Amino acid sequence: MDSSINIAVVNTVKERCRVCFTCVRECPAKAIRIMDGQAEVMPERCIGCGNCVRVCSQNAKQVRDCTASARLLLQEDTPVAALVAPSFPAEFAECDYTEFIGMLRALGFTYVHEVAFGADLVARGYKRLLENTPGSRYIATTCPAIVAYVERYHPELVPSLAPIVSPMVAMARVVKQLHGPDVHCIFVGPCIAKKGEMLSPELPREIDATLAFSELRHLFYAASISPEKTIPSEFDPPFSGQGMLFPISGGMLQAANLPEDLMSGEIVAADGREPFVGAIREFQSSDVDVTLLEVLACEGCISGPGITNPAPLFRRRSLVSRYARRRVSETDYEQWRKEMERHEDVCLTRQFQEHDQRYTLPSEEEINKALWTMNKLGPEDHLNCGACGYDTCREHAIAICKGLAETEMCLPYTIEQLKRAVGDLALSNNQLQETQQALMHSEKLASMGQLAAGIAHELNNPLGVVLMYSHLLKRELADSERLGKDLTTIAEQADRCKKIVAGLLHFARQNKVLRQQVKLMEVVQSGFKGSPAPANIRLEIRDQMKNPIVDIDRDQITQVILNLVNNAFDAMGDEEGQLIVTLLDKEDKVTIEVRDTGPGIPDDIVKKVFEPFFTTKSIGKGTGLGLSITYGIVKMHNGDISLKTNCDPAKGPTGTTFRVVLPRHGHG
Ligand code: ADP
Repeated sequence: MDSSINIAVVNTVKERCRVCFTCVRECPAKAIRIMDGQAEVMPERCIGCGNCVRVCSQNAKQVRDCTASARLLLQEDTPVAALVAPSFPAEFAECDYTEFIGMLRALGFTYVHEVAFGADLVARGYKRLLENTPGSRYIATTCPAIVAYVERYHPELVPSLAPIVSPMVAMARVVKQLHGPDVHCIFVGPCIAKKGEMLSPELPREIDATLAFSELRHLFYAASISPEKTIPSEFDPPFSGQGMLFPISGGMLQAANLPEDLMSGEIVAADGREPFVGAIREFQSSDVDVTLLEVLACEGCISGPGITNPAPLFRRRSLVSRYARRRVSETDYEQWRKEMERHEDVCLTRQFQEHDQRYTLPSEEEINKALWTMNKLGPEDHLNCGACGYDTCREHAIAICKGLAETEMCLPYTIEQLKRAVGDLALSNNQLQETQQALMHSEKLASMGQLAAGIAHELNNPLGVVLMYSHLLKRELADSERLGKDLTTIAEQADRCKKIVAGLLHFARQNKVLRQQVKLMEVVQSGFKGSPAPANIRLEIRDQMKNPIVDIDRDQITQVILNLVNNAFDAMGDEEGQLIVTLLDKEDKVTIEVRDTGPGIPDDIVKKVFEPFFTTKSIGKGTGLGLSITYGIVKMHNGDISLKTNCDPAKGPTGTTFRVVLPRHGHG
């Protein structure tokens, strides 16, 4: 492999690349790799057509800059010749061609030559080649991007590449014949593939530098050279003939007097990205019976990436043909023929080499794997939308297998991922809100707990004293019915206070969970021992657990069950009722359901039941602490408590079900 094919003609300016994949789509050689979300031109695959440069709206594709080396050459004592591509009228439309030549001379060029004369020689070479090798099929080699494409992607066709140099090289050989072998040659044109051609090992040191028109404009600007400040001048002879038409599609055929005969289909011209790829493919499959295929990577050289004139294609085309008309009318054909004869001995032959860059196709298994990662599970998922830069999902998958593309380039896949991420985010946002609420609640409980602990501690002893003395006095004043009654009231109220204090003490305790492995059923049963069901209530305990063991604070969960059960008893009162306690489990969580057939809880009350000190029970009966303590305990166990209730007999049997879900091992 020679070094020239590894020289990057185009680079990506990473900071500018917005990763739109347009360059991937437009690259006929698929020489652009997307890695870590960045586009990168692979020099060994690049054919220098410059499509990526043209289509990048962000100017993120940078062409190899030759202005510095051209400047150095122009400063040397050795004479330098400018080889001007015949498309220059399409670029420098603002001035007369003689002014343009004057500007080149002002820049320091010793000679200014027309590549169009080289094109005349090349055209003659083609005519002779076709005449001398009847029956052979050729692909024209005037466009270096086409040559690079065939060498890399259709290496079997290398023998079909017409063994003739490009007009640029033909002209360089003429110039060296005219001015000696040491003269430096700088090509000036619309093409960036010339930068690759110039380095081709088959053309040693024929061209010293290549300047795109855009680069030449920079040099003019930097040297303050403008048409009005320069002395108009003529090209150095030899002057060209029909070669001036080369930059227009089919121009070479006209120059060589080889008309594109579409009827017999023997000579075919094709230009532009898609037509050239198709034409070469068809040429290979022998579907087209052609003798000569004239293909250009751009829509004529007048569309080359080095052109900066924004005028539409046909305007640029007419600029070239108008110039050609003017020059042709002034051409001394006798003189031209003499020059052609004089340069009869200029060698126009060259060889080409295979630089096979084709990939071996990945296995079907690998391709399918890549497709699956993009959620393309069946043919119906292959949208082939082309947003990734590849024509089909399969081509994209192959590129992924080859390390050229990434899964995220698939737009439908990325949108789906994004939707999923938004969904997940909403979910975790909800969870966050719930956790925040629970945190606020438990913070509230914690501070209440501290306060409660203080008050309970202070009240417990004096209450004990009040109770003790009330009972002592009651015994001593047993005869006095009135005083005895009063003392009973004092004792009852003091008892109530003790209950409240006991409730407050739970607040103080619930911040610590002392987990131990227990059988949940045993906890439930011990709860009912402390609070047996009254006669009017049918109690049913349904143990549906597969694994009875849970990691919980036994006392606290007993308290939870007691609170729920007592509330259910209270709700059902003296009415006939049923209480069903159900225990369920999954691998990582357990559920306790307490269902009663009481009157249910009205909507406006449901919201408040977990608030501390909220009660609907009469004074002396309820403290309003049961459910808030229950809530606190459940949350401290990383669990959840919820309720379902119906208080409207019209909607079905009334009643309430509290559902407590606890993690089996304490992790929520
Ligand atoms: P308390 O039982 O001391 O009133 P709780 O915090 O345990 O305090 O209960 C608060 C309120 O929730 C009760 O007063 C009652 O109105 C309502 N409640 C709780 N459980 C039930 C139930 N199973 N059926 C109907 N209402 C209930």
